[in-house]
Amino acid sequence: MSIKSNLLDVLSELPERVRLVAVSKFNPKESIMEAYDAGQRIFGESKVQEMTDKYEALPKDIEWHFIGHLQTNKIKYIVPYVSMIHGVDSFRLLCEINKQAEKAGRIIPCLLQIHIAQEETKFGFSFDECKDMLANEEWKNLTHISIQGLMGMATYTDSTKQIEAEFCSLSSFFTEVKQSYFDQKPDFKEISMGMSHDYPMAIAAGSTLVRVGSKIFGERIY
Ligand SMILES: *Cc1c(COP(=O)(O)O)cnc(C)c1O
Repeated sequence: MSIKSNLLDVLSELPERVRLVAVSKFNPKESIMEAYDAGQRIFGESKVQEMTDKYEALPKDIEWHFIGHLQTNKIKYIVPYVSMIHGVDSFRLLCEINKQAEKAGRIIPCLLQIHIAQEETKFGFSFDECKDMLANEEWKNLTHISIQGLMGMATYTDSTKQIEAEFCSLSSFFTEVKQSYFDQKPDFKEISMGMSHDYPMAIAAGSTLVRVGSKIFGERIY
């Protein structure tokens, strides 16, 4: 199967409200160009250096989404061009992104990462931590970030029941947060959830951005 046909397969399954982030991490620029030539413009990367190298070498109408764990000392490298940062998991990180974005004269769209999985290893706010942060209105002073929604990863498991429950928990939390804090903000509209093995369930639960890598580019060798 080619990258193009994999891509078109995935796209054909997405309802109109759902956008695809083609996760190109660890894949070469040539593979990205195959997807690009088939029309894909949003790509996801999880390493700052890798994303920046690709940004510099590839067409400038690509929207780069950072989906990894972002270290504060590296924010400055991606701030000039990044389209969205999916994994913001602390107020401190939000402040740092804001600071660098101000220097660069940009407003950076960010998603708050919520810990919905059972695994210990996945990053993110708990529901309570996220609500506490939003209730303390300091984030409203950050004029160079735009909080546009939530991001989450389900547990890696064969139990579809569990995955569905986790995605639904993120969806209901989104609705709650939207009503409480972003009622007048149409930009708060994204639920980033769903990967190669679980995106159909994420879509059923209300995802607006799926992050699909191996199903398009092939299995990665870590
Ligand atoms: C790697 C990665 C993906 C894509 O995973 P696949 O299983 O290859 O689709 C999605 N989201 C995040 C945060 C990732 O790190």
